[in-house]
Amino acid sequence: MLDLTYETPKPKVIAGAKHDWELVIGLEVHAQVASNAKLFSGASTTFGAEPNSNVAFVDAAMPGMLPVINEFCVAQAVRTGLGLKADINLWSAFDRKNYFYPDLPQGYQISQLYHPIVGEGEVLVELGDGTARLVRVERIHLEQDAGKSIHDMDPNMSFVDLNRTGVALMEIVSRPDIRGPEEAAAYVVKLRQIMQYLGTCDGNMQNGNLRADVNVSVCRPGDYEKYQETQDFSHLGTRCEIKNMNSMRFIQQAIEVEARRQIAIIEDGGEVVQETRLYDPDKGETRSMRSKEEAHDYRYFPCPDLLPLEIEQGWVDDIAKALPELPDEKKSRFIRDFGLSDYDASVLTAETAAAAFFEKVAEDRDGKLAANWVINELFGRLKKDEKEITDSPVSPEQLGGIIALITKGDISGKIAKDLFEIVYTEGGDPAEIVEARGMKQVTDTGAIEAAVDQVIADNPAQVAKAKENPKLAGWFVGQVMKATGGKANPKAVNEIVARKLAE
Ligand code: ADP
Ligand code: MG
Repeated sequence: MLDLTYETPKPKVIAGAKHDWELVIGLEVHAQVASNAKLFSGASTTFGAEPNSNVAFVDAAMPGMLPVINEFCVAQAVRTGLGLKADINLWSAFDRKNYFYPDLPQGYQISQLYHPIVGEGEVLVELGDGTARLVRVERIHLEQDAGKSIHDMDPNMSFVDLNRTGVALMEIVSRPDIRGPEEAAAYVVKLRQIMQYLGTCDGNMQNGNLRADVNVSVCRPGDYEKYQETQDFSHLGTRCEIKNMNSMRFIQQAIEVEARRQIAIIEDGGEVVQETRLYDPDKGETRSMRSKEEAHDYRYFPCPDLLPLEIEQGWVDDIAKALPELPDEKKSRFIRDFGLSDYDASVLTAETAAAAFFEKVAEDRDGKLAANWVINELFGRLKKDEKEITDSPVSPEQLGGIIALITKGDISGKIAKDLFEIVYTEGGDPAEIVEARGMKQVTDTGAIEAAVDQVIADNPAQVAKAKENPKLAGWFVGQVMKATGGKANPKAVNEIVARKLAE
């Protein structure tokens, strides 16, 4: 079991203002469901397809066409809910959110306002300073995505691409439990990691598969605690929602900028107006987009084309049983079973592919040594080549082989690095390479002694100095290592040099 005891960190206090202020942030994350077909049609969801080629009649709102729920998308939402330790609602329903979207021809979005498929859950968010906090998830609902209007292809015309129209989204709504820009980004990173583990969203922010609406308000110290005790929102400040953020960096900048804007208004004696805003990264400001709309503005009503969604507990249980190991559990296990530090375990579990690679390397070997090699040597080398772990020229078996040679004492750490580079660029079996190229560490003390004697005989002045100052022994060790091409066992060299100098 995960240990969820943690200290609630001090909230961020904004510098430069007349008073102390704290930030309160709630996120609505839109995650595209990883699925080959759309939420209510069989049209493909392939990214980058020819415009308007992935459009079924129902996506284009042709007369008489009816939506049919995609069971796989429902399973993905349930899986995501289970991954967030959330309540799964066996009974949920779809509503129409009436709104004119040029790129959603129906004239409404099918969503779940009143009865979402997933209820209360939680996300453990770890921060850079080693603290962690639990952010509550209020709900996850399924809804349709809209298409794309294209305004910059022609000076006189706009185009519309309906490929994305009707693609399934999960809207994951957090409670206002996030207290600063870094936390907001860390929350999105963690959500993305969990969904990538689950295979329910690829998390690609560049392609727009993960976007966040960021709600920001500010309050005076003490007010948030009152909200926590009572869950009464009136203790919090008025919030503004910044729409459609698709990068971790922009999320953080937008929160910072928006909080300063709100503080300046309040300290000037004004009032924050609840509204929807856009972040302009070039100008570093948020701009009003529209006044805040309420649910009744959308004339929500239950979608008459769809029956309520009823799922069975047995089906949910089957999904639960097939759930993969999740990031928090994997990280705890790595710390426990391989003796890794918290930091190394975080790095190695960031992605499932890296975690699986590490596990193969570490199997029956020294876990810490394996972690060092994967993180420092392999990741470093891959980064230099802009390669992903899945394209690694060195296999886990090969890296494991190198580590086995170090542990056996066959090669020194220095030679191991040379060997790694050979395996990385030329391939081959590490043990065979060491054998064929004479890279084996010299542990034969006779040979080392001969080398030490030679260096001592060649450098009488240094010997005299070293006898006065034992710290100079290191120089002899260096010379011997050089003379043996780095292959002498450093421990043996140290011992023999010390002994000979003392004679
Ligand atoms: P709506 O659907 O009208 O946008 P919700 O109640 O669903 O309103 O809230 C949307 C998001 O705003 C949630 O993530 C919630 O946590 C967040 N939120 C609510 N009140 C505040 C506040 N005072 N400050 C910051 N975030 C807030
Ligand atoms: Mg909202």
